[in-house]
Amino acid sequence: MAITIKGKKEIEAMRRAGHVVSVVHQRISAAIQPGITTMDLDIIARDTMKEFGAGAAFLGHMGFPGRICVSVNEEIVHGIPSHRTLQNGDIISVDVGTIVDGYVGDSAWTYGVGEISEEAQRLLRVTEESLMLGLAQARAKARIGAIGHAIEKHVRAERMGLIQEYGGHGIGRAMWEEPHISNHGVPDRGPQMRPGMTLAIEPMVTTGRDETKQLPDGWTVVTADGSLAAHFEHTVLITNGEPEILTKRLPPVVE
Ligand code: MG
Ligand code: MG
Repeated sequence: MAITIKGKKEIEAMRRAGHVVSVVHQRISAAIQPGITTMDLDIIARDTMKEFGAGAAFLGHMGFPGRICVSVNEEIVHGIPSHRTLQNGDIISVDVGTIVDGYVGDSAWTYGVGEISEEAQRLLRVTEESLMLGLAQARAKARIGAIGHAIEKHVRAERMGLIQEYGGHGIGRAMWEEPHISNHGVPDRGPQMRPGMTLAIEPMVTTGRDETKQLPDGWTVVTADGSLAAHFEHTVLITNGEPEILTKRLPPVVE
């Protein structure tokens, strides 16, 4: 499938889908604390999507049983919501995908539960920084490889692990469109970016090595060495200037 360039109406739908993703994250972020289950977070996602008339992009995708993916500690991606209770010191990656008017928004964020270790804090910081550095390369005329190059450079400078098997992607009517966006790359390789392209950029970083393995549940991907993993992702629109983040973080909910 070719890379799609979105028109005005499609971009509007993508903005709406992105906004619902941001509200889900805002509410989940407010709810995360020791004692809550990952299923509780899935229910928050369900209720929020319902309120906005949005669909859950992950639910039923190749049979995935959750509305969101919840990946705790050494889990990297595709964790299934369950009755697992979050503990003080855990980190949890929450990946949210919504469908609004036929268009998809996709964003992941890793949150600390209660008080987390310095190592975990550094992991979260470096992964978020690598996302923002990758995103800064998402500009018209630059090539896709520039994104992964910026991500890899930062993660390696911090001497952390970088997941190679999974990466970002074009996004639009489908969750996964062309092109694949590797988290490592060469700046002058890959397709050229053009205004109207929408991309999901998503580095996955570990405190250990790069290798992964899949759990027997057929979904959850963990670090092979048991080290901690973080996952930060935004859906962005390529413009004639700065990329527009369609899944912008919203301020914390004030109680
Ligand atoms: Mg995602
Ligand atoms: Mg994605």
